[in-house]
Amino acid sequence: MVDIDKYAGFCFGVTKAIGSAENELAKHGSAYCLGKIVHNQKEENRLEKLGLHTIDRNEMLANPPSRMMVRAHGEPPSTYAEAKRLGITVVDETCPVVLKLQELIAQKYINESDCKVVIFGKKGHAEVNGLVGQTEGNAIVVSSVEEAEKLNIDGKIALFSQTTADYLLYLQVAEVLKRKNAKVEVHETVCGSVKNRIPRLKEFCEKYEVVIFVSDEASSNGRMLYDVCRSANPKSYFVTEVADLHDEWFVGCDNVGISGANSTPSWLLEDVRKQCCEIIKSRNNGD
Ligand code: SF4
Repeated sequence: MVDIDKYAGFCFGVTKAIGSAENELAKHGSAYCLGKIVHNQKEENRLEKLGLHTIDRNEMLANPPSRMMVRAHGEPPSTYAEAKRLGITVVDETCPVVLKLQELIAQKYINESDCKVVIFGKKGHAEVNGLVGQTEGNAIVVSSVEEAEKLNIDGKIALFSQTTADYLLYLQVAEVLKRKNAKVEVHETVCGSVKNRIPRLKEFCEKYEVVIFVSDEASSNGRMLYDVCRSANPKSYFVTEVADLHDEWFVGCDNVGISGANSTPSWLLEDVRKQCCEIIKSRNNGD
């Protein structure tokens, strides 16, 4: 038995952005996206073949396209201002969940000048840059419990997290800050698409002898969800593609679960499932 986790694969925000890219490509023959549309190189390659060009900020400034997609992670206000100045039509695919978080942070920053905005997330991550941009660059980003321990702020703090942050780690960071400062307001901003997967993934991993987790190394939620797999089932293996599968993982095992990140395309999960079936079949045939 080789099953795919029904909760694995594109979340709502990524599905929407990829659908929009496919529409743009069908309509215009090519499209430009600021930054990688999804943290999965295999899916990037598929869309590149259809005519999607990924550009960075410098390329946008040096050679502005007439239309440009903003991916689900969102962008800081400065990007929209630059695009307007350069006459670029923005196809904004910022995920509605990220958009709501951006607005929440912007409101906090504008309306409560005595409150310091702290964001738990990965420094330099596109979504985090977009969130920091809502505070004119004044928010503090913490990426670990250790960094939270070193933070000394006397006044009010509004704590937010990147939507794809590790939820359990976020709770720890919140506890550290609350211990040091009674005036911490904690906002539950880890996305349900990530947070709700943790208990479901644990349950899924416990049902199988071997778990194959499919993700790109660059996916934040992929790394975090793979840790969940390993804690629930020590026979969990991380792969980015079919070629990473090893026959010896399946010795004496007929019961395999396949899961993946919120940025793993369903076609890749299916390719991995088929190859696992092949490995088990040829072993059973004594090949
Ligand atoms: S993880 Fe949540 S916030 Fe992030 S793109 Fe997906 S649905 Fe949107």
